[in-house]
Order: sequence, then C-alpha cells, then structure tokens
Amino acid sequence: MLFGKDDIIVNVKKEFWSDQLVSQHNFLDKLEKTIRQHQFPHFSLVLGRPGNGQLLLALAIAQTILCTGDEKPCGSCEACYKVNKLIHPDLHFSFPLNNPKETCQQHYKEWRSALWEKPFMGISQWFSYLDGDSKNANISVTEISNVLNTLSLKPFESENSVLIVWLPEYLGKDSNRLLKFFEEPPDHVFIILVAENQELLLPTVLSRAQVFRLNAIQMDDAIKTLASIQPNRKPDELISAWLAGNGNMQQAMDVLENENNPSVEQLRKLLQSAYTYNVNELTGWVEQFASLNKEEQKNFLQWIQQFLSLVIMEKFKLNPGEGIQNNPVLLYANKLSNSLTVSQIEQWNELINDALLFLQRNANVKLMMTNFSIKLSHILRKDKSLN
Ligand SMILES: [Zn+2]
Repeated sequence: MLFGKDDIIVNVKKEFWSDQLVSQHNFLDKLEKTIRQHQFPHFSLVLGRPGNGQLLLALAIAQTILCTGDEKPCGSCEACYKVNKLIHPDLHFSFPLNNPKETCQQHYKEWRSALWEKPFMGISQWFSYLDGDSKNANISVTEISNVLNTLSLKPFESENSVLIVWLPEYLGKDSNRLLKFFEEPPDHVFIILVAENQELLLPTVLSRAQVFRLNAIQMDDAIKTLASIQPNRKPDELISAWLAGNGNMQQAMDVLENENNPSVEQLRKLLQSAYTYNVNELTGWVEQFASLNKEEQKNFLQWIQQFLSLVIMEKFKLNPGEGIQNNPVLLYANKLSNSLTVSQIEQWNELINDALLFLQRNANVKLMMTNFSIKLSHILRKDKSLN
C-alpha cells in the first residue's frame, strides 16, 4: 500500500473575514471574547475613517456570532463557510441605494462582488457596482420595512440573526420605526451599524448603540497587507502607494492596481494648460472631464484634494524619503511641492470644494469646469513670484 491512513493529509483551508483586517486584531480578539461569553451588545456601531476596514470587522463579528464550531470562529463549520461566501441565510445587509422602491436583497449579487473585491470600499466604489450615481443615496423606507419583516422571523439555520447596516449616515429621518426596533431588538437579533462619519449619524443612533471605534491603520501593518496582495512589488513601491492612498486601504490598493495612474496624467494635462493659460487645451480638458460620469468626476476631484495634501507633506518633508523614485504619484507630488506655494494649494483646494458642491447641485458641468480651469490658471500664475 502506497499510503497509510495517517499519510493522507486533508488540507482544509480555514477562511476568516478577519484575515484581511489590518491593525485591528487585538481589538477583534477582545470582541470575540465577549461574543463567546454571550456579552456582545445586540445593538452596536463600528466607527472608523474611510478605508479602515469597518466592514471587515463587522463581518468578522458576524462570523463569530453565527459560527457553530467549538472555538468561535472556527473557520471550517458550515456557518463559517456560508458567512465567508456571504450566503448565510441569517446574515442580512442593508446599504444605500439610489432607488427608493428597491430593496437591498435585490442587489445582494452586486453587494457580494463588491465585498469580495473591495472590502475596504467607500460609497462611490459601491455605486460603481450599481452603475449609478450616489447623489440620491439613501436607505429607504421600503428597505426598512423589508428588514423589519425579515428580522422578526425566526432565524433559518442559526440561533441568531445578524443585520449589518452599512453607512447608516444614509438613513433618512423617516427611519424612526427602524431605530425603535434597533433600540430593543428581539433576543435572537444582533444589529451592527458600520459608519464612517459620526457627525452625519442620527443622535438616537449614537446614544443607543454601543460604539466601537477603529484605530487608524499603522503603516507597518498596511505594508504587510499590500505585500500579501501584490507580492512582486518592492517595499518602497508599497510605501509610496500607502502614502498616496492617504491612510485609506482601498485607495492604496487602487494606486497599486493602476500602474499608470490615469489621474496623474489628467492632472498633469490640466496643470500644463493652466500654467500657460492655453484656452484650447483647457477647453479640451474640460470636454474630457465632462465625458466622465458623475461619480468619476467626483472621485477625480476628491483625488486631487488628497494629492494636494501629499504635496503639502512633501513640502514640509513629512513623507519618509524612500520610495519616491518609483511611484508616479509621489514623484509628481514631490515635483509640485517645489513649484506651488502653500497659499496656491489652499486656494486650489477651495476651488475644488466649490466644484464638488456645484456637482452635488447638478450644475452645468462644462460651464462650471471652464470657470474652474480659468480660476485655477489665475491662482497658478498669480503667486509665481512667491516661490
Ligand atoms: Zn465556525
């Protein structure tokens, strides 16, 4: 006989949502302990800045709550498997949509893809999966009624049901019924809200939920995670991507994925034509900007703002020296830090804030951006002597 019984190694890969969670493992250990001791709150709020992994933490908590193994989360029981594949019948999700007549369940397919591919995503990345505009993003009354109906039922497979509400910032004022339910859910229900911006939350949410705040991701941890996703990259490239992502894991991953970051090229074109006040080129740039969809326009403008904060960091030598030679984003930020004054950067930033507001109000994009590019030209050309 070739193999004895003991020679056959069954290699079952244990899968946890927490594997991708960065910088929060100590915190998660504590939470898992309270779950095992049946002391986890029925209504909780996970709060962290965008791209910090709040959704992953909520999924890790759900996996521990629903696990049927001895050592929760075991990673290999049927419940763990189903949570991992996002198909557990007792794990429910609510998230913003832009059609008040639809329910989230109708969009679970897109939701699963988004979570698997971009677990650190923000609202605009989510809406790119819906092929829509996040301007009217909302968690609607239709969705709320649907959730209340589902949660009032007994769980299908587990002793408990878990509802993860992603971005409760988008709960409208008419969500009172839901909040009442949240305050005193049935014994089998755990509600986990996952938020990014405390100021936009309804006061009842903050006063009633037990709040768990995530720490910012530490650079060392971020680099390890990025390295596990892109093993062939040099350490200094990973550092640059992390810095360019401005502490947001999703943005750092996007920088690494877009080798020739189109944003940098677009920005370079804008600056060149604005510096020289070349009206033809500026018009061409505006045309190109106007051809993007609303989310892309918003993303690009926000990306410039993050980029400008990088330029400031370069200006005051706050970035670590390594890595600059490789990353196009940092390289360009470094170059601009020598030619832009702080005042110019501030004025440009203001200009973008205004543009973002106009975009929200459905302004005429071409008109608005023509104005934007002319003002930018004035800003760039005015302060030249100050360098
Ligand atoms: Zn398990």
